[in-house]
Amino acid sequence: QEEEEGGEEYLFKIVLIGDSAVGKSNLLSRFARNEFDSQSKATIGVEFQTQAVEIDGKEVKAQIWDTAGQERFRAVTSAYYRGAVGALIVYDITRRTSFDSVKRWLEELSMHCDTAVARMLVGNKCDLENIRDISVEEGKNFAEEEGLFFMETSALDSTNVQTAFEIVIREIYNNVS
Ligand code: GDP
Ligand code: MG
Repeated sequence: QEEEEGGEEYLFKIVLIGDSAVGKSNLLSRFARNEFDSQSKATIGVEFQTQAVEIDGKEVKAQIWDTAGQERFRAVTSAYYRGAVGALIVYDITRRTSFDSVKRWLEELSMHCDTAVARMLVGNKCDLENIRDISVEEGKNFAEEEGLFFMETSALDSTNVQTAFEIVIREIYNNVS
């Protein structure tokens, strides 16, 4: 956060974590570019995308980091977490193993980030209601127990994607301003 002509400038690092194939990359592309990709491809090279949002009349920039598929090998590095002030912990509402992994992701996050990180639990793929495996209640209760924000999203049909990111960004903003 630095002083600039015309006021302060805010740049917040936010990390996306969660098991492989839960939809992290698509949540980011939906949020940053309003795009969805039905092919699952590990985005090699692109480490983060910066997206500007307006909060209370101020421009806030969110630098959102996406894994390049290294979560498959449980090899997300400390550099990935370094300096993060927000996190979206994503699971797939149709895949219980991805929900069970959330605990481990939270542990890893708290191991790497000692500061208060604004955390949101995200149940993605809520468009797949017919094959849902985790109820809204179960997600919500877990989030409450762990003190996380909670939202179900669909990167496919855009449900709550903007809102999920904005809640985290606003929480960070409130913490620093
Ligand atoms: P990542 O490994 O967590 O980054 O997951 P990806 O973004 O690569 O998505 C994995 C797969 O799930 C891809 O085939 C996506 O098209 C699909 N996917 C992602 N988000 C959604 C969603 O909200 N709904 C549905 N139905 N499919 C999704
Ligand atoms: Mg990905």
